[in-house]
Order: sequence, then structure tokens, then C-alpha cells
Amino acid sequence: MEKSPLTAPMQSAHMPVAAETLLALMHAQAEVARLSEREQLFSSLLVSVNAVLWAFDWETQRMIYVSPAYERIFGRSAGLLLADYAQWRDSIYPDDLNYAERSLSEVIDKGAIEDREYRIIRADGEVRWLSDKCFVSQQADASQRLIVVGIAEDITEKKRLEDELQRLATTDVLTQSSNRRHFFECAQREFELARLQGTPLSFLLLDIDDFKKINDTYGHQTGDLVLQRIAESGRTTLRRGDLFGRIGGEEFAAIFPGCAADTALQIAERLQREIQRLSFQHDAQSFGITASQGLTSLTDSDQSLEALYGRADEAMYQAKRQGKNQIVLG
Ligand code: GH3
Ligand code: MG
Ligand code: MG
Repeated sequence: MEKSPLTAPMQSAHMPVAAETLLALMHAQAEVARLSEREQLFSSLLVSVNAVLWAFDWETQRMIYVSPAYERIFGRSAGLLLADYAQWRDSIYPDDLNYAERSLSEVIDKGAIEDREYRIIRADGEVRWLSDKCFVSQQADASQRLIVVGIAEDITEKKRLEDELQRLATTDVLTQSSNRRHFFECAQREFELARLQGTPLSFLLLDIDDFKKINDTYGHQTGDLVLQRIAESGRTTLRRGDLFGRIGGEEFAAIFPGCAADTALQIAERLQREIQRLSFQHDAQSFGITASQGLTSLTDSDQSLEALYGRADEAMYQAKRQGKNQIVLG
């Protein structure tokens, strides 16, 4: 649009030189103030955000920038890191070092890696979880340097909550054993593995004898205590790698990977004795409990976990019919 003489701004032709300079200066000052306000905002954001921004020069293998949160999250000096990249490697949890280095070098081919998670050890020994996303950023200037930039977020609290959720979803609240769903999920995995590798596997069902009478005589709370002590006996008797779970009200199950019938029977007998040894008090009265167990082992013709479960269940009911407090092999 053409400017009419009326709307044209008061231009330098009409303005004294000093005033013009002053105006330019004021503009410049306002710009500086605006930039510095932005910079302050930006740096206070960098300090308070729970993540470290970083930039790494791929050619020279040097860290060229880390944001202020580095010192807080890593508990280490940023100056030392900028001087020596080995500081970064030193801060990675030893088990995760291979993964952290491999995934960082993958970024060169892929351009971006957004799902890296690894642990670090702070200078004070505390272990923290990081989610460290990284991206390749080719410098636009003449140097064309290959710079990798990243954002490493502290996800320790998120991991802790995830673990807690996982624990709550897989354990039975009363006895702290595996719950039914988790037990059968693990049992299914073990079944498939044993079939694939041709290794032995045994399956056990355990049902408390006359538990209804225990509840009726000594109260539900005492009944709950009995369930907790049975679960404890299971945990102390089974070997590492075996799995014990509460699959119903007063019914427990165990799976013994790599374990043929003879060894499984020894474990079941040990558990039987542990349970017979338990002693409970109620109103100056003491009482004991017993359980019936059905035990079976994987055979070539077992096509599903249900086949094992069915045999163990049948054996357990036979133990009940034969007078309880015994182990029957199915
Ligand atoms: P059997 O020897 O034939 O197994 O008889 P039983 O009395 O143990 O079996 P039954 O299945 O008749 O009774 C099981 C009882 O378990 C009934 C139920 O009230 C009780 N029960 C189930 N879950 C819980 C629990 O979480 N706490 C308590 N205290 N009792 C429970
Ligand atoms: Mg029962
Ligand atoms: Mg019972």
C-alpha cells in the first residue's frame, strides 16, 4: 500500500540527530530488557524442571552443554563433566552402562531415540532412574558438526510408583503371596518353557483341612492369621525359582520349574511338616492345623497347564477323601 504524506511516520528528515539516536538507544534498551527477561525465564525454567538438557559433540566426544539441573539430579559438578566426558560414563549404573552407550550410538543412525531408560549413581551413592531422550542435531553453520542433544528426566518416583502398582496387582493383600492371576500367568510361562526345553516341571495344590471349623471356632481373624502363616511356610520351604501363590480362599498352589516328581515330593513333605508344626493361640487355647496336598508332574502328553492343574486337583480331593493331612500323587 502506498503511504500518503499524512499517515507517513515522522521520519528522520524532520527529527534532530540527537533525538533520533536517543530513540534508537531506547529501542535497543527495550530489546535488551526483553531478551534478558526471556533469558531469565528460560534459565529459571531450566533450573526448576526435573530434567537435564544436554548437548554432546559427537566428533570430539565431549559434552558441550548441560543445564543447571545436572548438578541437582546427578549430584556432581557440571564443570567436571564439561572438562571430561568420562564423568558421564562413571555416573551410569554399571549394569546399565552397555545399554546406555549402545542406545546413544544408535541415535546417529536413527536420528532420535526416545525410549532410553537407565539408572545413574549420584556422587552420594543414591541410585536414580532417568528417561534420556536424544536427537541428532546437525549444526547449520559451516562446521556441520554432528551434535547430539538430549533431555534426561529424573523418573525415579515414577518407577517407584510403577513397581508399587505392579506389586499390588500381583500379590494377595492378606498373605503377600502371588495372587491367583499372577500365579497362573507365571505358571503358564513355566509350562511353555518346560515343554519347549523338555525340562521337568511339577505342580502342587494345597487346601487347608477343616478351615471352616477353624473360622467358626476361633473367629475369622484367627483364620486370617492361619492363612498368613501358611503363606510364610510356603515362602520358607520353597526353593528360589519356585512359585507359591494363594489361588482361592484357603487354597494355595506351587509350581516347581526344573523339578521332577521325586524332588517335588520332598519339598511337599517338608511343607507338610512345617504346617503341622505351626501352633496358634486363642483364648489360652492352642491349636494346630493340617493341609491336604495334590502333587503332579509334567508328562509328554500334557498339552496344557489345565491338564496338570486338573490332575493335581483330583489328587488333592483324593487326599481329602482318604482322611486329609496327606499328600497324594496324581
Ligand atoms: P476341607 O477340609 O474339606 O477343605 O473343608 P474346609 O472347611 O477347609 O473347606 P470349605 O471349602 O468348606 O471352607 C473353606 C472356608 O474358607 C470357607 C470360607 O469362609 C473360608 N475362607 C475363605 N477365604 C477366607 C479368608 O480370606 N479368611 C478367612 N478367615 N476365611 C476364609
Ligand atoms: Mg477349599
Ligand atoms: Mg479346606
